[in-house]
Amino acid sequence: MNDTLRNTRTSVPSICPFCGVGCSLQFDAERDSATGWRGPVNSRGEVCPKGVAAFDVVDHAERLTTPLVRDDDGDLREATWEEAVSRVETAFGDVVRRHGPDALAFFASSNCTNEENYVLQKLARLLGTNAVDNCARLCHSSTVAAMRERLGAGAMTNSLADVRDETDCLLVVGANPAEQHPIVFRSYLLPAIRRGATLIHVDPRTNATTDAATLHLPVRPGYDIPLLNAMARVVLDEGLVDDAFVSTRVTGFEAFRTALDDVDVAANAELAGVDPAAIREAARAYASAESATIVTGMGMSQHHYGTDNVHALVNLALLTGNLGKPGAGINPLRGQNNVQGAGDVGALPDLLPGYAEVTDPDARARVAEVWGVDADTLPELPGRTEVEATHAFGESVFGALVFGENPLVTEPNLNRVREQFERLDCLVVLDIFPTETVELADVVLPGSSWAEKAGTVTNTDRQVMRMRPLADTPGDARLDLDVLCELGRRLTEHPGQFEYDGPEAVFEELRRVTPQYAGMSYDGIGTGSQRWPFPAGATEGTAVLHVDHFASGSQTAELRPVAHVDPADDVGDDELVLTTGRVLQQFNSGAVTRRSGMLMRLRGADVLQMHPDDAAVRGIDDGDTVVVSNARGEVTVEVEVTPAIRPGTVFTTFHYATPLANLLTGDALDPVAKIPEYKHTAVRIAGVRP
Ligand code: SF4
Repeated sequence: MNDTLRNTRTSVPSICPFCGVGCSLQFDAERDSATGWRGPVNSRGEVCPKGVAAFDVVDHAERLTTPLVRDDDGDLREATWEEAVSRVETAFGDVVRRHGPDALAFFASSNCTNEENYVLQKLARLLGTNAVDNCARLCHSSTVAAMRERLGAGAMTNSLADVRDETDCLLVVGANPAEQHPIVFRSYLLPAIRRGATLIHVDPRTNATTDAATLHLPVRPGYDIPLLNAMARVVLDEGLVDDAFVSTRVTGFEAFRTALDDVDVAANAELAGVDPAAIREAARAYASAESATIVTGMGMSQHHYGTDNVHALVNLALLTGNLGKPGAGINPLRGQNNVQGAGDVGALPDLLPGYAEVTDPDARARVAEVWGVDADTLPELPGRTEVEATHAFGESVFGALVFGENPLVTEPNLNRVREQFERLDCLVVLDIFPTETVELADVVLPGSSWAEKAGTVTNTDRQVMRMRPLADTPGDARLDLDVLCELGRRLTEHPGQFEYDGPEAVFEELRRVTPQYAGMSYDGIGTGSQRWPFPAGATEGTAVLHVDHFASGSQTAELRPVAHVDPADDVGDDELVLTTGRVLQQFNSGAVTRRSGMLMRLRGADVLQMHPDDAAVRGIDDGDTVVVSNARGEVTVEVEVTPAIRPGTVFTTFHYATPLANLLTGDALDPVAKIPEYKHTAVRIAGVRP
């Protein structure tokens, strides 16, 4: 362990750097590892294996400890901070002079603090561009888009504790919380099930979540809307509509009912690849429950019509009166530890802090006043999203700063992405490890790990919690917030706007421009949490949204018919559908967890799950190594033959560099949220290698 570790097991805690659950951790000197601390989410101090391994990477031998710059001969060499930052200043200045500020792109980090993301989006906007985005684009941007538009807030409608204590039916769609959000599952969903709540699991795979389910609908990837529309049709046919709710809180009922006239449950069930009786049973269980909640994940959001998928979920909740009351709602489980907060504080190309539209002159004026600049200073046109920016590299975008993300593993169609990145005039990466993205960088800035920084993060439950430094940054590495503020001073014409006396000062500013955070205080959060929305003058945050009126300000929300759209990839007769996801022991691009000895011992290699029928016709046995390919690329991977995956579909994760699943995934984007279609990729299993 880092010999500069300042605190011991009796110290104040920090927050787990991995998933959006936000478990509190502390360092256990005797075990030389992390241990749970009784925090606002994990009140019994439980953590999952990733949490236990959280310190494995803090003093890892591969930590970046000195700035690097690329020499004329193409090699990265060590540099001073002054040389590295000057290189960024000169290169980005040249790009702005030649092409304007929109020729830059800033990738913020769902894995870093609210304060860091806030400063980065401020930097971009004071440079004159809204081209700032974060990894939320790739996971739940479609969820946020649909829920914001329909309900006024793109976040969990109910708290985890409310779900645990109040819900009678859990409709878990496109999520595997038992592995992806293990403490949510163990501490919130399982207690609800033990209390008697029914769990309906909609997922192409049988997994650890399914084991706790009453009903499993193994939906065909890409065919969620036929399934959800069929459920809505059953609700209508069987008189399960919540008439009182619909009459007072819903508009568009007649048009919705008319649109569903053509829906045939049996036909939709066939399209979705599930038993029509199971659809009817699921609809009855969901609609008949006193309070039913939807828990949703990337199986719904990561489609080129992901926004429509979530619209279909909103329809079900509105139709059955499952919004604005305890135990109900729509609850997206967010992936990274601060993916909720990165959006809250404005690291988005179309939205300012607090989800105000960049196109709204009043919103720009409010932010400009706090920033002490003329309202005209702030750009008014939405910037490019992450994948759009990547696709413009070398054509209309020539400089990029990537902060704490690893797009060379996480973006789709990676052969194309690599070519685009290689076309940049200047790629700057602020990170802690030599990731796949760092390999292409012109300037590498060594930053701080989770255990070295202070600030706040916002978990999936809308709880804002404080991180605390437990160790010093190694070598010449610096705190991310200090690096971003230095870049703000050097790159913009408003250096005074980046003079902060630490993260608390940034938090004080960001809560002035983020209405959801207005009533919070750094001290008030303490070692606990404060939940948004927390308006100025309030004594506490709000657990259940949309109670008397929706967060949009309206008393009503609209039922909106949605129609199925075929997935972008056609699937040939000899092809299978690849769908990707996560496992318990690894996280996101694996840049951090693949460097944990403990986690690699638990899950050191990826496999491709394939149904026995698909394996048999291809002559593939369990443990064989196969080549999975399509026009975009190919990967080699070992096969696990298992009935846990539905026939016609294969599954692997996106955590590993080998196999690199996103070499295969397509870059068709949802027209609203611009999220790529990760969950449906046509592939050939072309051969078996000895
Ligand atoms: Fe960390 Fe998530 Fe595991 Fe909690 S459930 S310990 S936040 S990875």
